[in-house]
Amino acid sequence: MRVLLASSEVHPFSKTGGLADMSAGLAKALGRAGHQVRVVTPLYRGILQRFPEIRREDWRFDLPLGAGRIQAGLYSIQLRDNLVVSFVEQAFFYDRNGYYMDHNADYPDNDARFIFFSKCVAHLARYLPAAPEIVHVHDWQAALVPALISHEKRAGWGRGERPPATCLTIHNLAYQGMFPGTSFGLTDLPREYFTPDRLEFFGLLNCLKAGIVFADAITTVSPRYAREILTEEYGCSLDGILRKRAARLRGILNGADDEDWNPGTDAYLERHFTASRPAGKTANKLALQREMGLAQENGIPLFATISRLAGQKGMDIQLAALEEMLNANMQFVLLGAGENAFEHGYRALSARFPGKAAIRFGYNEALAHRIEAGCDFYIMPSRFEPSGLNQMYSLRYGAIPIVRATGGLDDSVVDLTEDGRRANGIKFYDYSPRPLAKAIRKALALYECPGLLAQYRRNAMKADFSWNRTIREYLEVYETAKNAASRP
Ligand code: ADP
Repeated sequence: MRVLLASSEVHPFSKTGGLADMSAGLAKALGRAGHQVRVVTPLYRGILQRFPEIRREDWRFDLPLGAGRIQAGLYSIQLRDNLVVSFVEQAFFYDRNGYYMDHNADYPDNDARFIFFSKCVAHLARYLPAAPEIVHVHDWQAALVPALISHEKRAGWGRGERPPATCLTIHNLAYQGMFPGTSFGLTDLPREYFTPDRLEFFGLLNCLKAGIVFADAITTVSPRYAREILTEEYGCSLDGILRKRAARLRGILNGADDEDWNPGTDAYLERHFTASRPAGKTANKLALQREMGLAQENGIPLFATISRLAGQKGMDIQLAALEEMLNANMQFVLLGAGENAFEHGYRALSARFPGKAAIRFGYNEALAHRIEAGCDFYIMPSRFEPSGLNQMYSLRYGAIPIVRATGGLDDSVVDLTEDGRRANGIKFYDYSPRPLAKAIRKALALYECPGLLAQYRRNAMKADFSWNRTIREYLEVYETAKNAASRP
């Protein structure tokens, strides 16, 4: 199948979160399975310097954007015969310090930046020499594409080619790309598209809604999250329109890249280890304790979190639960970046528990790998979690996840009460500090039972989140989308 995949982040070129890992993982897996894949993403600052093998292509965009026209170039890198990553080069829009924001404030022209990006994707879908059969777009930054393609189809696609089917993946419904109604003019779509059953959301332009309404297929990143977003509690005000499109919606749990995240080969680690030879984990734990300035003792259970510091991630209940639990014999490591209030909270926590809570702010890929390898327990108390990747990396690295049972966390972790033989983590249900503290207490008890802990570790490290399983499901969705698109 020929697939054009559009995402505003692609690992290792750009990344703020799971979207980057997922789009790269999916593209690689499709490529390995023999499909023709082109990924499109913006050319952000620094990418050309870090990847000098990226080449300029003989391709110019010159597209309308509201009252004006914008020109852009295209750069590409061939990762394998059938896998290309292309970058839209528009210096004014993308050559900036951040991807979406600077100094904690969104760029005021994010509407123009990503509507333009979506137009470039739709343009490629129409004019690439090898026309794609599927255009698979990710999150609000590319969600306008299905509306643009649908409109062009209605106007006659031309070239005698079959127009592509479209698929939207929602990685996080909380981010919808909402802008003032006046931004709708930038889409250059006819006025009749700006109605409540299409792109309008109470007078605002809602980019994600455009994808939900017009995509031939919609996916989200875990089965449980697919059910959750149909409810008022998790639907972020789009549950109504999602319920209308529920027949097109499917939840597919993200895969986890087994080349980047493999404790048997990971270049960042002190010592390699595997499910059958787990002993090396201890050396990583001692190295992590040293690196973080904690007492180097294997006997003390080490808990960790790597996260965006945001309300979604449950940082408020985590701070409160740790306040209570850090009096016990345990250590805690945090790597995170995000909201100031949470940074203050963790700074205060580490000041109150010196030598027990070690905190690093900022984004650090290498340290993230060393933390997964070194910690005994990984805490992820999200308020909601569409898929979540860190709990999967934790399982693979033999760190027992302690998670709130929501979204992809519920789908990927098995609690003792669900299946004693397959248990690989600890779940709690109510969103509040008490149940989390209780789950941490269970972890402390588990640490005292080496036989049981070893069994949990074995189960964890054997859990299969390979992309091969995941792409089979995406290929089914692509077929369904193609059938839906070919119906008049
Ligand atoms: P989300 O996409 O909501 O942030 P996920 O768990 O799906 O959450 O993905 C987060 C990804 O970002 C993981 O690969 C995780 O290791 C990484 N990550 C998050 N914060 C940091 C950080 N401060 N330093 C390094 N990696 C981080």
